[in-house]
Amino acid sequence: MSAITDSEGSEKGVKKFVDDWLIYDTILGEGAFGEVRLIANRKTREKIACKIMDFAKYKGSEVAITREIRIHSVLNHENIIKYYGLRKEPTRVYLFLEYAPGGELFQQIEPGVGMPSRDAQMYMKQLVRGVSYLHSKGITHRDIKPENILLHNGILKISDFGMATLFRHKGKERMLDKKCGTKPYLAPEILVGSYHAVPADVWSCGCVLVAMLAGELLWNCPHEDYPEFAQYKEGNYLTSSPWNRLGNTPLSLVTRILDLDPMKRISLEKILKHPWMTYNFSYDEADSSADSNSNGLHAIRRASMMEPPADRESPYVTLSQPNLPTRPVCLEHIIDKQQKTNKRRDNKWFSQPTHNEDLIISSELQFTQTPITKDNFSDLIQRMTRFFVTTQTEEKTAEALCSVLDALHYTWTVDGSGAISISTVDNMKNQLVFKVTIFKMEGKILLDFRLSKGCGLEFKKKFIKLKECLGNIVCKV
Ligand code: ATP
Repeated sequence: MSAITDSEGSEKGVKKFVDDWLIYDTILGEGAFGEVRLIANRKTREKIACKIMDFAKYKGSEVAITREIRIHSVLNHENIIKYYGLRKEPTRVYLFLEYAPGGELFQQIEPGVGMPSRDAQMYMKQLVRGVSYLHSKGITHRDIKPENILLHNGILKISDFGMATLFRHKGKERMLDKKCGTKPYLAPEILVGSYHAVPADVWSCGCVLVAMLAGELLWNCPHEDYPEFAQYKEGNYLTSSPWNRLGNTPLSLVTRILDLDPMKRISLEKILKHPWMTYNFSYDEADSSADSNSNGLHAIRRASMMEPPADRESPYVTLSQPNLPTRPVCLEHIIDKQQKTNKRRDNKWFSQPTHNEDLIISSELQFTQTPITKDNFSDLIQRMTRFFVTTQTEEKTAEALCSVLDALHYTWTVDGSGAISISTVDNMKNQLVFKVTIFKMEGKILLDFRLSKGCGLEFKKKFIKLKECLGNIVCKV
């Protein structure tokens, strides 16, 4: 049976997907080859993220998607989005993934401020555990950034294995030479020649830590042509932002991670033992006591950020047999048969790779154009880039928004779905595209901002500016 039909949608905003599953109209995110939507089981109410990839629309995507599936399907760790299986139709493939209702990590980062040190430490621990697990399986992610890190009840989940590859097989490491990733998070050696996978991922984790602590990126690209990086290389950086906003202890960790020599760069294991990582940030304590950057601007978001159970799954254990995630039983009917039985080894959609070499990605140049999307279903996801307004109608709200956009000289269009799509450049002169959807919720008008292309932090800066300009109609909470 082909998935998604118009009939039998029993609730507004949903369609029947297949069997007992409903698919929501609102997208969770857009990716390079399609979109991610929420599906929910009518009977059990279980929610799953469904990544829909369209081969017909995105020519040449099949090979990339196959690689992503081969890698993601062998992973099972608390800090990695779980892969449950797939369903294939002639021109489309549906990947079923653990649903992360907390959205992307960058949503928790206040531009120019960051987040409380305690939260940054908690996320960093989880990120390091997730990445250590990947490395223990011989896999490198190669595109670690806040936009590829999702949250579920305060638990960090690494996602998007589109750039991942196998760097160690049967104990033998291979050097990598593919220049891929997202420039502000990229280790400098990647731009120079062949590189070791592990320290390159460690570097990206350090850039994520700075983004969490300072709400700012260090540089646009780790190359001498970029003054911020050139200054860092010359050792002449401590007085400039964001460096001068990091306390001594986090600074010592960041500089150990961002060691220009990949061979001297601190290991993930040692990161976990660094004094800043082991410091006990108390709930009641001001961040400054922990030698951090806090200026007290952060909202208390702690209720939703429980510390994860310590080392539930050791990242340092290499499993000879994959210990795959248990998928919800109710998904069984809609996942392709060979995925369930694991018997058809000749099938390229088989959930386990036949040879580990199949996981290796060829070496053409491939950069992610920086972050991509977000968005989510309004009442299911905590989002920070949206607000209610006092205007009575959608039309009046659109008028107010568009006059602010014109005053700020933004280029905007109305897309097919009725959303206002804004195209601009960020401070680093990179393309930034985001969409604003206006809709009625609980009798009030909600403006929902979603990044389509560009840097998450720069998007949030624009969002804050627009919210300020619309101050006269923003609902005071
Ligand atoms: P890219 O073009 O960046 O490589 P992609 O095609 O690999 O993107 P993803 O990054 O996997 O797509 O997903 C796109 C967006 O969809 C994510 O940034 C996220 O906002 C949302 N998303 C993806 N997976 C989930 C999930 N499991 N739960 C909730 N939201 C998700």
